Amino acid sequence: MSENIGQKKERALKIIEIFHQIYADADCTLEYMSPLQLLIATQLAAQCTDARVNMVTPALFKRYPTVHDFACAYPEELSAFIRSTGFYRNKTKNIIACCQKLISDFGGEVPKTMDELLTLPGVGRKTANLVLGDCFGVPGIVVDTHAGRLSRRMGFTKNTDPYKVELDLLKIIPPFEQSSFCHCLVYHGREYCDARKPRCAECPVKDLCPQKIK
Ligand code: SF4
Repeated sequence: MSENIGQKKERALKIIEIFHQIYADADCTLEYMSPLQLLIATQLAAQCTDARVNMVTPALFKRYPTVHDFACAYPEELSAFIRSTGFYRNKTKNIIACCQKLISDFGGEVPKTMDELLTLPGVGRKTANLVLGDCFGVPGIVVDTHAGRLSRRMGFTKNTDPYKVELDLLKIIPPFEQSSFCHCLVYHGREYCDARKPRCAECPVKDLCPQKIK
């Protein structure tokens, strides 16, 4: 018999309780000092690991400390800093255009609403939700590769489209837990619920997971 929303919510809360114990310090794995830096780091993280982005951003943020520095950057120079994150030509173009729009439309500040963030070049719902949750305390579901995979394995969604996964999780995860839950999914994906070889036998939430491999 399939679970209804209420039962999924109840199970999710039990998983969240365990996550709070084992990932008490779960946080964004990108390093940043300001909303602008997180906005840029998240764009760099597309098709790249957070660890690689964290290797690149210290020199990048030193060279371009303000939104104006990014907006006026020479593409060739900026791209040299971010080349190793992949898709660097597109990322360079988007970062410069994004910062120019921050200046022209938002007084040089990172906006605090989804609708405004989505007007920025290179910014999709994943980036917007991450910035809103981590910088401004606005609840939201960040669907990255870990969150999508684990949500499906845990039976919280059947969807693969990130927006549909986000909508399914919004119905199940309480607002005040949403940002933290998504960070925990990243930690859990790395620690136990690997894409190819999940370690279900040792998984602390295995008794709450319909997909556990016996
Ligand atoms: S039981 Fe297995 S599939 Fe379920 S969350 Fe744990 S590692 Fe992932």
